[in-house]
Amino acid sequence: MPLVLIESPNKISKLRKILGNSYTIMASVGHIMDLSKKNMGIDAETFEANYKINSDKRDIAKEIKREAKNHEIIYIATDPDREGEAIAFHLATLLPKRGVNIHRVRFNAITKEAVKKAIKNPETLDDNLYNAQQARRITDRLVGFKVSPVMWNKGLRGTSAGRVQSVALRIISEREKAIKAFLPEEYWEINVETDLDFNADFWGVNGKDFKIKNKAEADKIVLAMNEKHDLVVIDHTNKQRSRKPAPPFITSTLQQAASNKFGWGAKKTMGVAQALFSQGLITYHRTDSTRTDPQKITDLRANILKDHGKKYLSTNVINYGPKASSQDAHEAIRPTYDSPVSSLGSDEKRLFNLIDSRFTASQMAEAKFGQVAVKFEYPGKKDKYNFKKNGSTLIFDGFLKVYGEIKDDVILPPLSVGQAVSWSKVVPTQHFTKPPSRFSDASIIKLLEKEGVGRPSTYASILDTLLDRKYIERQKKALIATEIGIMVSDYLSANFPTIVDTKFTSKMESNLDKIADGQMDYIDTLKLFNGDLDTQIDKAITSGLPDTFTVEVDCPKCSSNMIKRISKHGPFLGCIDWPNCDGSLSIDGEDKKSEAVETGHKCPKCSNILVVRTGRNGKFYGCKSYPACKYTAMIGEDEKPVEAKKSKAKSTGVDCPKCKKGEMLERKGKYGKFYGCSGFPKCRNIMKTI
Ligand SMILES: [Zn+2]
Ligand SMILES: [Zn+2]
Ligand SMILES: [Zn+2]
Repeated sequence: MPLVLIESPNKISKLRKILGNSYTIMASVGHIMDLSKKNMGIDAETFEANYKINSDKRDIAKEIKREAKNHEIIYIATDPDREGEAIAFHLATLLPKRGVNIHRVRFNAITKEAVKKAIKNPETLDDNLYNAQQARRITDRLVGFKVSPVMWNKGLRGTSAGRVQSVALRIISEREKAIKAFLPEEYWEINVETDLDFNADFWGVNGKDFKIKNKAEADKIVLAMNEKHDLVVIDHTNKQRSRKPAPPFITSTLQQAASNKFGWGAKKTMGVAQALFSQGLITYHRTDSTRTDPQKITDLRANILKDHGKKYLSTNVINYGPKASSQDAHEAIRPTYDSPVSSLGSDEKRLFNLIDSRFTASQMAEAKFGQVAVKFEYPGKKDKYNFKKNGSTLIFDGFLKVYGEIKDDVILPPLSVGQAVSWSKVVPTQHFTKPPSRFSDASIIKLLEKEGVGRPSTYASILDTLLDRKYIERQKKALIATEIGIMVSDYLSANFPTIVDTKFTSKMESNLDKIADGQMDYIDTLKLFNGDLDTQIDKAITSGLPDTFTVEVDCPKCSSNMIKRISKHGPFLGCIDWPNCDGSLSIDGEDKKSEAVETGHKCPKCSNILVVRTGRNGKFYGCKSYPACKYTAMIGEDEKPVEAKKSKAKSTGVDCPKCKKGEMLERKGKYGKFYGCSGFPKCRNIMKTI
């Protein structure tokens, strides 16, 4: 009776249904071994890995060892990828060395057809693929073990670097810094309501693009339009546009679509996909191939013909991915159309339907749209003002019938060049430019994939590690770098440039692919990587913290500058003269250590008393109930409290356009003069000009 070894116990029931009771099936429940913690788990000379059974897997390993003695044929059927191959190799070390036939079987879907075919054509363990996994694991270990102690010594206690996630951290941190430094700029739009039931938008003056920067410029145009001439059509184009369906899902596009459509994180998507795969309902969900088994494409096309008719079937077979070769077992993520073993949960249903409709759409006809673009001119006395209007109509939905969103038609009346269009109203509106938006799981994975950083098996864990270490936070869909995250990123960028470099990391990833293909030696690759890392470490040990860590805040004890550091309680400001001076402040520059001196003044907000505190701009009054009450005041003449906001910010008489309650006040910041809402911090509206 053969023994079948797999990774996930969730697959057992489906496999038993396929193989029957004549097979014994056991699951390793993921990795059973990892690099030993001793000496980094690597031989310093040869770079050979030294493995230990994970402490929580000792019982499972023992059971597999015992059971294996009862079998003459053993199939190792772990997942068909790099990590699956490593688990296969580790499992093989538990098996008897003699008197047993050990086979490696790989199937990319748990269906009767795929499993039976794999068992009939057993393969051997793939050394190259395993070496690629070892190189991946060992380089990660080298970075983790060697860089962290350097960071701790530099005052970044408890922080760490990671080979791929540090690149993602830098990208997310740089975006956060750009958002913080962003000052919105004012611009105006002018809209004309025509008598033909459409609105036209201003775009230029005398045929040239023109951006309206302020109210005065907008008023000038509106004033000129008081003469109420008709708009004249000066250009009219009519085009037909078609849109092709997208290829079936691969890991990254599945994670992106689930993030966009359901707001799911990559980790959740992979969990639900894993459940679908374990039940044999979809092909393997860790893949970067858009290829589909030609037989499955034939079946799909027959189904499209039956369900939607010939009109909806693409004229020819659409081939995605590399040309089919017998070697390439990798496929896109698609449904197997097996019936489920047990009923599906609602998340599983949603993801399955998404995969199904995307796969179906991939062999359907193109969608067709009609696009109309019309340009108008307002013949002013001095200048001619230009307006435009675009229309779009769906001519044929094609693949959009099953996948994708169909926008509402924008239908324009028939118009021709030279035609005069009367209008009733001109509406100017004020706007402000928006800061760059934060990354979502979808957009960061898209970027990482484009840059060649990360692989199907790692996208989800990259983000998960950063979230786990609190280097980034998730707010709804947005990924936000934390203060610690930005500090770690800044430190690594200054001292370990290759670790946060996209190109270097993407080259390393393609080296790993080459090792898997047998085109590169993994020990050589490791030695090269390690040598380069050691050079950077030697340099980092002798250099200080990057300039961005120094802040212009006086040390409460010796008046030196302060510098950003991380303790076990998180980020704080420490005296630059440490260890000679142990002055410290909170990361916001507030004095948390020195006793707050009580005053005779009452807090106007909560009636507790005010105390004297020291902040980054010196001493000030703060409420004793801080942080419950955040009232602060400056220390004025005769030590009277003077409300800081009113004395520092100049009134402008302009209402805040965002909250419509506050007044825009003139303030001075790091980047010069700006306007901020008096409702701060409730309303955080700021602008460069008003
Ligand atoms: Zn000091
Ligand atoms: Zn108070
Ligand atoms: Zn406001």
